[in-house]
Amino acid sequence: MSETTKYIFVTGGVASSLGKGIISASLAKLLQARGFSVTIQKLDPYLNVDPGTLNPYEHGECYVTEDGAETDLDLGHYERFLNTPTSQANNVTTGRIYQSVISKERRGDYLGKTVQVIPHITNEIKEHIQLLGNTKKYDFVITEIGGTVGDIESLPFIEAIRQLKWELPKDVLFIHLTLIPYLAASGELKTKPTQHSVKMLLEYGVQPDILVCRTEHNLSPEIRSKVARFCNVDIEAVIESIDAETIYDVPLLMQNERLDQVVLKHLNIPLNGEPNLTVWKDFLNKFKNPKSQITIGLIGKYVELKDSYKSIAEAIIHAGAINECKVNVKWIHSESITEENIDKKLGKLRGILVAPGFGTRGINGKILAIKYARENKVPFFGICLGMQCAVIEFARNVLGHKNANTVEIDKNTAAPVIDIMEEQKNLQEMGGTMRLGTYPCNIKDKSKAYDVYQKHDIEERHRHRYEFNSKYLNEFETNGMVATGINPENNLVEIVEIKEHPWFVAVQFHPEYKSTVENPHPLFVNFIKAAEKWKVESKTTAQEA
Ligand code: GLN
Repeated sequence: MSETTKYIFVTGGVASSLGKGIISASLAKLLQARGFSVTIQKLDPYLNVDPGTLNPYEHGECYVTEDGAETDLDLGHYERFLNTPTSQANNVTTGRIYQSVISKERRGDYLGKTVQVIPHITNEIKEHIQLLGNTKKYDFVITEIGGTVGDIESLPFIEAIRQLKWELPKDVLFIHLTLIPYLAASGELKTKPTQHSVKMLLEYGVQPDILVCRTEHNLSPEIRSKVARFCNVDIEAVIESIDAETIYDVPLLMQNERLDQVVLKHLNIPLNGEPNLTVWKDFLNKFKNPKSQITIGLIGKYVELKDSYKSIAEAIIHAGAINECKVNVKWIHSESITEENIDKKLGKLRGILVAPGFGTRGINGKILAIKYARENKVPFFGICLGMQCAVIEFARNVLGHKNANTVEIDKNTAAPVIDIMEEQKNLQEMGGTMRLGTYPCNIKDKSKAYDVYQKHDIEERHRHRYEFNSKYLNEFETNGMVATGINPENNLVEIVEIKEHPWFVAVQFHPEYKSTVENPHPLFVNFIKAAEKWKVESKTTAQEA
């Protein structure tokens, strides 16, 4: 590898949602599988400082890194593909760039100067891009530019990468992800939108080196050569990206198209054999050849937009694959669950997962679903708000505190079993002030949690303001809901379970953020195992009956 870090920029053209994140992650995977160290960064052109205050309907799930950054969900893909952690430096928004420039201006750093988009904003962007390269930890920094070329708001990013190419001509490469639409009426693939999108990039002074073309049909040699000719790229640099059965196929599809080889050639890096993708292929093989099949329910209030629970959905895929079990997920809107329809809605499920969330909407359906899982002994997994609801349900229906609640929903509840954390009480700002990022947790012996993790000391990522109220712990434990994971620094309850239940585990943290293809999360793996087993047991009971 050369002495310097190489910067690869991935822009998007023609339409949004073409999958820049997956293409970036797939290229990164191929380079990593060749022995290079790689990280991926996302530049987002909106004015929020981070996506932490966004409703999931706006932008999908908010992903949380080890260092407590609230980030774009694409960072989840980066971690799931590369199996290496990202950090705050891996996600930069226009809002963060402006915040930094404006506070420098107030400090007097630019004293005497007019502060402008060029050079001040573009310089700040370049600094944030090079922050990762300057650590000297990476051979490649792949930077995905959010939005579509031509958007007003992404212009400063495009200008910054144009300048960077000028400054580091040998170390910068541009990949443009575009769409080749298929016109069913004429039975043709059309290259014109791609030509226009490249023309627009050229207007900004950026000549893409490689074009990755999303398409529903294979690109013929004629189409490839037409795109190459009109867009000034080598024919081998026209890469087909055909719709895939799963996102996890994309690294292999990109390998078949020799994307990694074309990248290395452009950057004058000698080819070093083939990428080692043994573990990846093993995962895909298990994922595609399941030996059993189950259906579990995911209860949440943002289920219309599946991106809201992206990491949970992917963690279930990882866990299913390792168990060689196809897991169908029934997405159930918590607002739709009532006492009357609950049997119909949840009756056939082999596992029930209650998702994280905020606020009052849909809370009753979540509590009903948990009661159902507890009473019918259906494997249950609660995450964050899902755990808090499990505590409320137990307090109301087992301990007899009819009005038990979280103070998030009822400030004056008679039984605040979930209370606001001490350090959250006097906060004035909403952005970036939750309990965020990695915290340690001690696991108790002889617990389901210990069976799952097989160790006493774990670390998990958090994103919440409210907590189990330890004043009630004794009462819970003597009645069957026990705390089996405790934060060693402040004694906060992080895991609760019900002893007299085949699998009832609820966690205050977000295990889904840590599940990767190469390292499926043990809680998900065990939950799926329990759900599979429950099917067998319940069948036996049915036959006996
Ligand atoms: N709203 C709850 C809290 O802030 C749970 C948050 C979550 O589920 N991520 O504590």
